[in-house]
Amino acid sequence: MKGPVIDGEGWAKGPIAFLDRDGVLNYGREGYVNNPSQMNVIPGAGHAIAQLRESGFTICVVTNQSPIMRGLWDVEQLHTIHEELRKQLLNENKDAVIDMILTCPHRNRDRCGCRKPWPGMLRTGHELLRNQRVLHSKIDWAGSKPNSWNPLDTMVGDRKSDMGAGWAVGARTFEVSSQQGLPQVINRVLDTLDSGDDYDPMRW
Ligand SMILES: [Mg+2]
Repeated sequence: MKGPVIDGEGWAKGPIAFLDRDGVLNYGREGYVNNPSQMNVIPGAGHAIAQLRESGFTICVVTNQSPIMRGLWDVEQLHTIHEELRKQLLNENKDAVIDMILTCPHRNRDRCGCRKPWPGMLRTGHELLRNQRVLHSKIDWAGSKPNSWNPLDTMVGDRKSDMGAGWAVGARTFEVSSQQGLPQVINRVLDTLDSGDDYDPMRW
């Protein structure tokens, strides 16, 4: 499996909200979310997504799911899990539409460019959602934060690897606790004057 798994399509005119999945939209589990019955959306996540869309954000979920390359389950299983995610979010708020879900199926040892903190999924999301092809320069983790494609592009995650992937595309980065998820920072994300959490990739 060479690239990320793509699920859904949309068209971004404004900023993109890149959202991690486990610990941001739904509760994570030790040993992964392996089937739809283990998918439990964090209360408020659906309302938060609806607010983001209402404010002009396109929603792009970017999730590392190495169980696929570990052989624990396959892409079909991934899609059933994501159907359940979409269903629960829409049950909470009918406007909680995810425009695109990108999944990295790899393990560290696969040395891909999509497993966060590498920004491959965010780059792919930008290219597909904005119908743009961009030249990607090498990431200089010791350098200064790159320019973003849109000044309000945002990455929300519960891990430093999420912050790294957001930083690498110049996005505003917001770190949440895995028990509170997206609702914890939704007001900050919607505040166009909030430039996100300070994050230095050389210090973790
Ligand atoms: Mg997470």
